[in-house]
Amino acid sequence: MLPITLPTIQNWSCHNCSGCCKQHLIEITEAERQRILDQKWTEADGIPPGQPVVVPHGGTWWKRGHRLAHRPDGACVFLDDRGLCRIHAKFGEAAKPLACRIYPYAFHPGGRRITVSLRFSCPSVVANKGRACTQNKGEINQIAKLVVPEGIEKLPPPGITNRETVDWDDLWRITNTFDELVTDEETPLIPKLFMLLRVADLLSQASLKVIRGQRLDELLELLVATAAEEGVPEPSAPQPIAAIQFRLLVAHYARKDTVADLDAGWWHRWQLLRAALKFAQGQGKTPKLQECFAEVPFERLEQSWGELPEGTDELLTRYLRVKLQGLHFCGRAYYDVPFVEGFQSLVLIVPAILWIARWLAASNDRNQLTLEDIQRALAIADHHHGFSPIFGSRGFRQRVNFLARTGELGKLLLWYSR
Ligand code: SF4
Repeated sequence: MLPITLPTIQNWSCHNCSGCCKQHLIEITEAERQRILDQKWTEADGIPPGQPVVVPHGGTWWKRGHRLAHRPDGACVFLDDRGLCRIHAKFGEAAKPLACRIYPYAFHPGGRRITVSLRFSCPSVVANKGRACTQNKGEINQIAKLVVPEGIEKLPPPGITNRETVDWDDLWRITNTFDELVTDEETPLIPKLFMLLRVADLLSQASLKVIRGQRLDELLELLVATAAEEGVPEPSAPQPIAAIQFRLLVAHYARKDTVADLDAGWWHRWQLLRAALKFAQGQGKTPKLQECFAEVPFERLEQSWGELPEGTDELLTRYLRVKLQGLHFCGRAYYDVPFVEGFQSLVLIVPAILWIARWLAASNDRNQLTLEDIQRALAIADHHHGFSPIFGSRGFRQRVNFLARTGELGKLLLWYSR
């Protein structure tokens, strides 16, 4: 198997919070469905009579897909009262569906290596709790053997833009430069990201056809120096059209589709449409997208909330570095978008997190953010980033491109960090 690059700055162990068994739909293969049915679950195992353990989900009319069933409270049918998995307890870890075994890891092609990233929808990942990922190498290798397809090393690298491509070595050269700049401890994160957006923009305008290897390093150095020269402006409110686009995007990040919501069919879709209209208007009160959010005036979320709480830079820097090092923002890992667009989407999640954190704080009648607000907002937003199909849709991508092209993305970053 190819060598695996682990996130060296991240810790993780499962702390049995059971959040993943309540939040995620677990799609299963036909072989997994058969295996679970063959396990013959009964009332004696804690599965109520008449309760199906797998149900149809997705697929096509000629080949139906399936997922694990959920209880009326939204939890997976196999989650017991202690927050433990019944399949794991009775038949061992290997008997669980693959999706349960992988989470929160994510594996991506990296040329002659496989990169590993993590999903920050897991609270233990957000809190950096548990063993260093490097210590989990044995278990990660085992999972990689199950999920990494043959011939992954032959996959081409993501483009830098739709026009410009480089080879894997040069893609890593660019990624490592971005990673080093995010890591730089001399400068606070927000101005650093503002500057990196400029570097990404300049990079998207460069013709890379004959610039390879060390010459690419020199070009990157020049772009960084050019971007740094311009400095960082004072925060100013985004243009109304950008504010609408941004709020619509935040509404996607902040929503939560439970199994009950999906079962509600057209009623759920109607509720989402109403919520989208409210977000587009941005007037009056926010609609309640999840239990943790109250209806608060939109206006309150636009005011200055003062300095970001201590620990925010560390948290968001770790998040961005895990995504960068794991190539979890472009190419196969992110809707096949090129490097620059993927990086812009990754930066855009930062103001979205800060907006959601304000909403959480305001929902608890507070005017100041805590690190916990930021942590919760990050877990809510990353649940969708790179996973909800809507984020790879044409409309969503056009929204990100518009915000980046007009300079509004940088403005949003400064506006919601004040
Ligand atoms: S099968 Fe087990 S690990 Fe997977 S979602 Fe259900 S309870 Fe959680």
